[in-house]
Amino acid sequence: VPFLTDKRVAVLGLGKSGTATFLALQQSGARVTAWDDTEAARDNAQKAGVILADPLEQDLSSLDLIVWSPGIPHTFPQPHPLAEAARAADVPLVCDVELLALAKPDARFLLVTGTNGKSTTTTLVAHILTSAGIANAAGGNLGTAALDLPDLGADGVYVLELSSYQLELTRSLQARAGVLLNITPDHLGRHGGMDGYIAAKRRLYDFIAADGISVIGLDDAPTRGIGDWLLGSGQKHTALSVKQVLEHGVSAPDGVLREDGVEIFDLTAIATLPGRHNWQNACAAFALVRALGVPAHTIAAGIASYPGLAHRQQLVGTRDTVRYINDSKATNAEASEVALVCYDHIHWIIGGQAKEGGIASLEKHFHRISHAYLIGDAAPAFAATLAGKVAFSQCGTLDQAVAEAAARAQPGEVVLLSPACASWDQFKSFEHRGDVFRQLVEDLPPHGQTSP
Ligand code: ADP
Repeated sequence: VPFLTDKRVAVLGLGKSGTATFLALQQSGARVTAWDDTEAARDNAQKAGVILADPLEQDLSSLDLIVWSPGIPHTFPQPHPLAEAARAADVPLVCDVELLALAKPDARFLLVTGTNGKSTTTTLVAHILTSAGIANAAGGNLGTAALDLPDLGADGVYVLELSSYQLELTRSLQARAGVLLNITPDHLGRHGGMDGYIAAKRRLYDFIAADGISVIGLDDAPTRGIGDWLLGSGQKHTALSVKQVLEHGVSAPDGVLREDGVEIFDLTAIATLPGRHNWQNACAAFALVRALGVPAHTIAAGIASYPGLAHRQQLVGTRDTVRYINDSKATNAEASEVALVCYDHIHWIIGGQAKEGGIASLEKHFHRISHAYLIGDAAPAFAATLAGKVAFSQCGTLDQAVAEAAARAQPGEVVLLSPACASWDQFKSFEHRGDVFRQLVEDLPPHGQTSP
């Protein structure tokens, strides 16, 4: 797509998506160079055909655009020198989502952001569209990078999961609808605190077309504040709640999804969307697809056939009525909390690279835990929080934790990997961690032969 012909563009960050971005821009006729702060990444990219140039050694004012990899901090905790110089030279910093918006000015977009539930909601929306016969592609923060999404032609719909980092680096996107699901403390270091994080999330509503619909969850204080602001702004909006029935909006406090107070269908029977948090995701997906004019009953049929996502409270095995649940995606305490409240008698595998705040906020659910199995860097800190409240073992690694949990769990109990931590200390990613867990469960010896 020749959308940046002859524009001078620099790409910063040469991971997989940065390299793909470079090649896509080069094909589109841009005069593009790229850079990465680490030498190894530069070397790899060069082998893939990337033309390297350090933007800080160029005349920045000759650049039209800097494509910034959302993974690289630009303002907090420290200002990045290139970001500062770009601001001084008035060169916009954007991410690949902005390039997608520039490449497809007439496409229909649906946007999803929030602290938790983004991937579930994004894939649920895509599934509903597919089952309604509407061509679509989902990507962004999850799965396929924005610029690798297939061309859908005139009638297709792009469903984009957007992180707060991507929202900060987007400018001209105009969507049919977008949802902010919820806001709880996460990634605060990168946004200079909670206010910065809320401000980044609120930017979502800059990217809804004038005749589009702004969808907002109303179940936590920060999003309620944004809801009040939306009301005052005059934007067309749909409110969501799983705590109360809304006369105007989509709600499901008891698991029955309602549109403007009218019952549409029961979510509680859908095994792939367990728990109140998933009702929130279902309400959000319903509202987004509704914004395209799809009938309510068509959407209900789509939700009912949703296959679920790996690594999110996914049942990966049952042995002698002990259920093994892979919730590797729960990389912070809030995400683990939604899993903890779904079960009792939990053998909880927890730990990894710790997040701010640890697990102290989960204390009210400790009565559900039969035993905890600590792994990774966070183990000493978690041991201090659990001491005297929950029985635990220091396991070090995931294989040791699975072996010990399998030996101790009684029939009917649950072994839950919901680590409340990032995975980087011991794994390549949360997906890798979840896959290892699934494999360990599959490899467990038949019941009765497990050694502690
Ligand atoms: P994200 O893409 O935002 O990280 P996911 O859909 O991958 O979110 O879900 C990650 C985890 O967050 C899930 O395993 C679940 O524990 C929790 N979660 C999912 N949806 C919600 C929600 N609406 N509110 C709170 N927690 C949620």
